Amino acid sequence: MLPQPIRDYLLARREEHLAALKEFLSIPSLVNDAPGSAAAARQASDWLAGRLASLGLDSAVLETPGRPVVLALSRPIPGRPTLMIYGHYDVQPSEPLERWTSPPFRPQVRDGCVYARGACDDKGQLFAHLMAVEAWQRAGGGLPLNVKFFIEGQEEIGSPGMESFMADHKDELAADAVVISDSEFFADGVPSITYALRGLVLVELTVTGPAHDVHSGIHGGAVSNPVNVLAEMIAGLHDADGRVTIPGFYDDVLNLSDQERREWQALPFDPAAYAASLGVAELGGGERGLAALERRWSRPTLDCNGIIGGYTGPGGKTIIPSRASAKVSMRLVANQNPDKVIEGIASYVRQHQRPGTVAEFAVLSKSRPVLLDRHSFAMASAAAAMEEAFGRRPVMIRCGASVPVTEIFQRIFGMDAVLMGLGLPDDNPHAPNERFRLEHLWRGSEASAALMGNLSAEKVASRLA
Ligand SMILES: [Zn+2]
Repeated sequence: MLPQPIRDYLLARREEHLAALKEFLSIPSLVNDAPGSAAAARQASDWLAGRLASLGLDSAVLETPGRPVVLALSRPIPGRPTLMIYGHYDVQPSEPLERWTSPPFRPQVRDGCVYARGACDDKGQLFAHLMAVEAWQRAGGGLPLNVKFFIEGQEEIGSPGMESFMADHKDELAADAVVISDSEFFADGVPSITYALRGLVLVELTVTGPAHDVHSGIHGGAVSNPVNVLAEMIAGLHDADGRVTIPGFYDDVLNLSDQERREWQALPFDPAAYAASLGVAELGGGERGLAALERRWSRPTLDCNGIIGGYTGPGGKTIIPSRASAKVSMRLVANQNPDKVIEGIASYVRQHQRPGTVAEFAVLSKSRPVLLDRHSFAMASAAAAMEEAFGRRPVMIRCGASVPVTEIFQRIFGMDAVLMGLGLPDDNPHAPNERFRLEHLWRGSEASAALMGNLSAEKVASRLA
């Protein structure tokens, strides 16, 4: 239960909290190497550490080989459980800039939403938790449990180096529960808790032919064409039923339980409306005969993300290109091992060598899938907190995307995070006009505060001890 003084405090401070969030959103903490982004990452870390210190937390900015990490810890209360809150301050690039109604790093409030890069992913969602800590500290007589923050700056590129950072800081990061708000509601008005994320293998396939581009008239018919060979390789990655042909790809896939299938069928999901929202007439991707949510959540997929090769300028240029390459991503589901998938790719590439060309691949990134315990105390506490704040019991969903630390928390710390998403499906994360609905900021902070109260409840504390 959320104490009334906490509710009142959050209500009274809305203007102040929005102003602070806008300040945070104004920092262009881009995850890429754009000029100034490293300095902005430092600025964002300092801003967070300063804000957390002002809330009475012992906070520090820690150096890593990449962007800094912010760690903060509330004054220890012996005998109380510890809640870890993870978030990230890095944001995706904002191009194409001309598609933004207001500039990405000049936050603007329109139609009940704050618009800015990072508004939803993840600064706004993270900030809701800071508001909750503040409310407990200033109006609730102090935090009802121990709170830790772990905020990183490279989530958007797969959290490189985070696994070793987390292993090196095992004691500082130890907690009884982890909450991550970096996901979204299933639909407007349908609060959701996510209990599975897909993993990722991203590779670049390269086919090399003649030492340089050659004349397609003089040499055509004699020399293999790397673009043709690459196209054949990509086309061969799916069979006629939409199944991925990489050897062993489906070997370890965990099948969906009947109960989950029934729950998903009960979700308010209209495939036609979903297709229309994406501007397509039909949902033609993935394996034939399976429901769209299964294809997006519980089945692995493979997609070519881009092809580079040959002449692509205006007019024609009659050549046989010397080289072609493609980026290919695979989304993995529970029980699949990225390394085993990579072995399968190696054997696929070996089988598709063609005379006079060399096909190779390089792994650009990989992360494991994660399936979380749906029946943990933390999960139940979060569900009750969301119900209290948003007025409706959350549905349990999976998500096709990845938040790499979730899997690391499970594997290294044995902790199943609670993915309490506060965003909405049309918040445009990673896209122009990213936004966060203010109502979700207000209610999200209440949900976070309620979660802290629920987790501190005596029976939970004794169960966790
Ligand atoms: Zn995110």
